[in-house]
Amino acid sequence: MLLVMHKEATDEQIDSVMSTVTENGYTPHPIPGGERLSIGILNNKGPVDGSKFLALKGVKEAIPVTRPYKLVSREFKGEDTVITVSGVNIGNGGPTLIAGPCAIESEAQALTIAERVQESGAHIFRGGAFKPRTSPYSFQGLGLEGLEILSRVREKTGMPVVTEVLDYENFDMVEQYADIVQIGTRNMQNFSLLRRAGLCKKPILLKRGFAATIDEWLMAAEYILAEGNAQVVLCERGVRTFVNHSRNTLDLSAVPVVKRESHLPIIVDPSHAAGRRDQVIPLSRAAVAVEADGLMVEVHNAPEKALSDGPQSLYPEQFHLLCRQVQAIHGNLHENGFGGDAVSA
Ligand code: PEP
Ligand code: MN
Repeated sequence: MLLVMHKEATDEQIDSVMSTVTENGYTPHPIPGGERLSIGILNNKGPVDGSKFLALKGVKEAIPVTRPYKLVSREFKGEDTVITVSGVNIGNGGPTLIAGPCAIESEAQALTIAERVQESGAHIFRGGAFKPRTSPYSFQGLGLEGLEILSRVREKTGMPVVTEVLDYENFDMVEQYADIVQIGTRNMQNFSLLRRAGLCKKPILLKRGFAATIDEWLMAAEYILAEGNAQVVLCERGVRTFVNHSRNTLDLSAVPVVKRESHLPIIVDPSHAAGRRDQVIPLSRAAVAVEADGLMVEVHNAPEKALSDGPQSLYPEQFHLLCRQVQAIHGNLHENGFGGDAVSA
């Protein structure tokens, strides 16, 4: 249930509603809006009887919430969430472009790629220092050294950086270096990691589990918001299906569905979905056409020598082309007034 307060509601009235919610055995969660405050009722085991709250002074409406997720839902918050990292917005209609190698391999490699992608229009640099690899014998990332390289890339280019946290134990360290902390597909339902992310002061990039439904994904995001961190960016990165023409199947229908169900921004990672370079530019164009708020793309200066995910990494000049194409598509959509129909429909 969501209690929408009158615009003129006083602080005393708000406090009294919060206390009444608590006295009834629920948890109140204030949600500031543009004009008025709403109070979400959490921790209810069944339907909440709205009549006793409607009778309280200052309460305008009591709206039943039908979805299992609350804080991430559009029912709780109508306006889009926009996340700002060092002056870069994610969720303002985008597309915000995140690019870089799968893994940080050396300072020279990271800086070369960062400069190239920045020239082409990337806003945020990506690169893994801790890599979740299928084989224990594959390159696992440079760890702390990789995080230090990321800091130097940020210093030199001014671009904020996103990097993955693999486990609870390393969260403090990754959080110190990253501007956005990534939780990968394999950890989407690592609930202790999600709760830790909820205590983090930095935005979280939450990738969709490769076998997760959208409800499960949004419930994972709910864990983070429930602990107090409202800065979550969702990332569709493909789900596992029966096909073998790509590594995963990019589920672009997730974009309008998530936009209808949630106020959180959603970006698309075509690289891990495709697993092969030749599909990355077409899938990026499509993602921007369905109004994803951004893209996260793997780029390498020498993909044939990359220590991970070389076959799906774009050459810098391909990323340059990608940027021109998606900017053209985005501009065209908005000039012609096609934008925003996912939410209003
Ligand atoms: C990544 O972005 O580096 C990554 C490992 O992605 P995913 O978790 O989607 O496989
Ligand atoms: Mn990768």
